[in-house]
Amino acid sequence: MIHTDALVIGAGPVGLFQAFQLGLLGLSVEVVDALPFAGGQCMALYPDKPIYDVPGVPVCTGRELTRSLLQQAAPFLPPSEAQGPRAHQHLQHTQHLHLGQLVQSLTATADGAWTVTTDRGLVFQAQSVLIAAGAGAFLPRGLGVAELDGAINVHHHLTEDDSAAPPWAGQHLVVAGGGEEALSAVLAIAQTAQPAHRPSRLTLLHRRDVFQADAALEAAVRELIHQGSVQLEIGLPQSAECHSVTEGNAVQALSLLGADGQTRSLPLDHLLVRLGLSPKLGPLSTWGMALERKQVSVSTATFATSLPRVHAVGDINTYPGKKRLLLCGFHEATLAAHALAVELRPDAPSHLLYTTTSPVLHQRLGV
Ligand SMILES: Cc1cc2nc3c(=O)[nH]c(=O)nc-3n(C[C@H](O)[C@H](O)[C@H](O)COP(=O)(O)OP(=O)(O)OC[C@H]3O[C@@H](n4cnc5c(N)ncnc54)[C@H](O)[C@@H]3O)c2cc1C
Repeated sequence: MIHTDALVIGAGPVGLFQAFQLGLLGLSVEVVDALPFAGGQCMALYPDKPIYDVPGVPVCTGRELTRSLLQQAAPFLPPSEAQGPRAHQHLQHTQHLHLGQLVQSLTATADGAWTVTTDRGLVFQAQSVLIAAGAGAFLPRGLGVAELDGAINVHHHLTEDDSAAPPWAGQHLVVAGGGEEALSAVLAIAQTAQPAHRPSRLTLLHRRDVFQADAALEAAVRELIHQGSVQLEIGLPQSAECHSVTEGNAVQALSLLGADGQTRSLPLDHLLVRLGLSPKLGPLSTWGMALERKQVSVSTATFATSLPRVHAVGDINTYPGKKRLLLCGFHEATLAAHALAVELRPDAPSHLLYTTTSPVLHQRLGV
């Protein structure tokens, strides 16, 4: 059981800034996200595209913004000693930032706190909850083959940390998909800087010989296929052959239906499914908050929901005039943190402190 003043659900840009604002006000904070990296939409949908309307930042990419937000929140989400600054560079776990955890239940306790659980067994006892869940949890789209669910050698994400060998190093990796996500993964894997980290064989599997990606990316992948460093396999996955290993089930081969109507087997060591991510509101809709068209209704003074000590900020909330912009989410996170600080510490002085001049804030920031 992890005890905290505030639990932030979602490590997107607004959730990360929320953690910073709560920490600044002296509240302890934990952040959880279903994705294995921080950054929400900025990283899942447009990591390398430029953003031009963050105040004071003329231009930055989604990845750069995420790194800056993590760096800013570092006094309250510090990297563990083992990871050092790599954790922020690679948008990975830090102390108090729990990735790859889908929040499932939110249950009120008798003393006005919340018990929050995740699909992978984390349990939090939180005095307050801040929902920064965007359009919902980003979950990878699957191939629709039941045997692949939970198999230990089926992956969906590339790690940002290229200093560690990926699980498919020196083995046969099949990348499934025909869009931008699949082709950019094939290119990145084929061009991995350290030869020992590359797979021994790399196959791109798609249902037809037509890709949906940027022309330059497609040309680069076609060239790899032409050179023979990537094999192209056309077919529709029907089922999978699995065997049991100590940690669970592992896929050995995919059964593919070809355009000729024949079924054949594609043996593999690892499967990387890159069909994109789709946001699922999922469990959130069952927590009992007032919703309006799948968005959480909030007060615009405090961003409180209809549940006590549960606030909602960023793309997940709705109110008259709502705009789904980073700037608006950052404003909401600031007001929500101030409202919660008053609620959780009614006797503490509530006058506004500036980061430029306040020794208290400097101490919290460690500057
Ligand atoms: C293509 C594109 C371009 C954009 N360009 C701009 C721009 O130029 N300027 C601008 O201001 N805005 C832009 N936006 C909008 C901006 O990205 C969003 O407003 C912003 O990402 C919202 O941040 P958020 O933290 O509220 O939600 P998100 O970024 O969606 O993050 C929410 C996070 O919560 C997690 N989550 C949800 N439910 C759960 C759960 N139950 N358990 C665990 N984790 C959960 C999700 O996995 C996700 O990581 C753009 C959006 C898109 C799609």
